[in-house]
Amino acid sequence: MKAAVIHEHGGPDVLRLQEVADPTPGPAEVLVRVRACALNHLDVWNRKGLAGRSPTFPHILGNDIAGELEALGSPVAGLEPGQRVMLSPGTSCGRCRMCLAGEDNSCRQYRVLGLQVPGGYAQRVVCPAANVIPLPSAFSFEEAAAFPLVFLTAWRMLVTRAEVRLGEDVLVWAAGSGVGMAAVQIAKVFGARVIATAGTEAKLEQARFLGADDVINHRTADVVAEVRRLTGKKGADVVIEHVGEATWERSILSLAHRGRLVTCGATTGPRGMTELRHLFSKQLSLMGTYMGSKAELLQAADLFFARRLRTVVHAVLPLAEARHAHEIMEASEHFGKIVLRTE
Ligand SMILES: [Zn+2]
Repeated sequence: MKAAVIHEHGGPDVLRLQEVADPTPGPAEVLVRVRACALNHLDVWNRKGLAGRSPTFPHILGNDIAGELEALGSPVAGLEPGQRVMLSPGTSCGRCRMCLAGEDNSCRQYRVLGLQVPGGYAQRVVCPAANVIPLPSAFSFEEAAAFPLVFLTAWRMLVTRAEVRLGEDVLVWAAGSGVGMAAVQIAKVFGARVIATAGTEAKLEQARFLGADDVINHRTADVVAEVRRLTGKKGADVVIEHVGEATWERSILSLAHRGRLVTCGATTGPRGMTELRHLFSKQLSLMGTYMGSKAELLQAADLFFARRLRTVVHAVLPLAEARHAHEIMEASEHFGKIVLRTE
């Protein structure tokens, strides 16, 4: 099969299209014919060697996969070859106390497709049958591939960790990013008032289209002052933080008393300045999160299949242009997801 393979860490040019052997499904695994695979920042970190752990080279990136079941390693009720599917990106042991409590993303054996194990920048991928989510025929492979990782992440941030409530003010940084566009929509579904930031007027317009009530240009405006003004000096009840160093301090200063900040990443750098007097005097909660459970993904998927959450696909490129896709991602000029199409 064809795959975009990396043999070392480095820039986009380390992605090489080449022929590799088809993977073979073991018992309780499935072989999936990949039709679409969406990019995530995790791919860029992994390519650069900054994801916190190195894969075994040669390695195939790609966490978010949609396609067709091609073969089953062993029969599984309800699954058969030819079926259209999207894949849950996380795998776990299924036996430990975390897995049995439904906290599979805290399993010590938790792995992410395309991070520690081969992913979807290929014509075929193998994964556990438990990761298969049947895809209704009304959904394209591209829009399905754009869904799992960022909606799972944003769902856990807002619903499970921050426990967002009706009428709360939620600040979402970088609404044009995958997590941003997911968070704007999920916060609206839960009845929050969403204040979204973006770096261009076009992106602000798209954020409004997705449901943001108010928008702030984070390149030209004073975000902290604007949040205070928009909330009658109260501040945001919840801040969705995934930018890191460039926004962290402003995120803290934007919080209301008893406000909750949830972070899932640090795209601009790992260090954030926190004035501890704000933390205690305003009784803030700072929370970290990583991916999400399969159950959380299924909850979010129910709303996706009901068309109450939708993915935004910025561009669809052939697998052979994986390198260019990474360049687009790193330039940050896009709104929504970049998807590789695998013929
Ligand atoms: Zn486990």
